[in-house]
Amino acid sequence: MEPKVYTLLGRAGCGKGTQAKLLTDKFGLTYIGSGEILRALSGQENFNGKKIKEVISRGQLAPTFLIFQQWVNRLGELKLASNKDLAGILFDGSPRKLVEAQMMEEAILWYEWDKNFKAILVDISREEAFNRLTKRRQCVKCGQLIPYVGEYKNLKVCDKCGGELVTRQDDTPEAINLRLDLFDQEVLPVINFFEANGRLLRINGEQPIDKVFEEILSKLQ
Ligand SMILES: [Zn+2]
Repeated sequence: MEPKVYTLLGRAGCGKGTQAKLLTDKFGLTYIGSGEILRALSGQENFNGKKIKEVISRGQLAPTFLIFQQWVNRLGELKLASNKDLAGILFDGSPRKLVEAQMMEEAILWYEWDKNFKAILVDISREEAFNRLTKRRQCVKCGQLIPYVGEYKNLKVCDKCGGELVTRQDDTPEAINLRLDLFDQEVLPVINFFEANGRLLRINGEQPIDKVFEEILSKLQ
């Protein structure tokens, strides 16, 4: 069985994280998330670790070559460990820009995992993303983010710990528009790149979570 390699794309608020979890569980995929990679980088007690912390605290992106160094290490480990046992890999939160998509494509070809390599776009409009992000809430006690979708809209308190739910201070309309601008500038070229390579699956993200997952599964077949 050829390993499955999926990368999840979509505007903030599209529910990628939830779909990543569902896909990882269903197929037993190895998860490579951008958050985990950033933590690995910023946890280093050296020049890189220190500078990455500064860059992130200013709200800027960590540089591509360092992110890619981490990817390449992970991919190499997975390839050399035992290719037979590898069900597949799921990338969450990357590529963030065209050059990273090109590098990802090259690495996947190099490791001969390209047969089942797909980019899954959980597509929601900019208006929908803005609406969801301005209305999402966070638990003051455990920090869980409550998306503004489906039954979550009606939650009065946190469904995990019963804590109070409040709007996040980071989610100002200005900050949200900046994030959505960044998507239009940097990630739309990534989507076009994967579409031209025949790898793109476009999924309607403006439907209930289980329907989004069903559409992903049916388009993967
Ligand atoms: Zn909570």
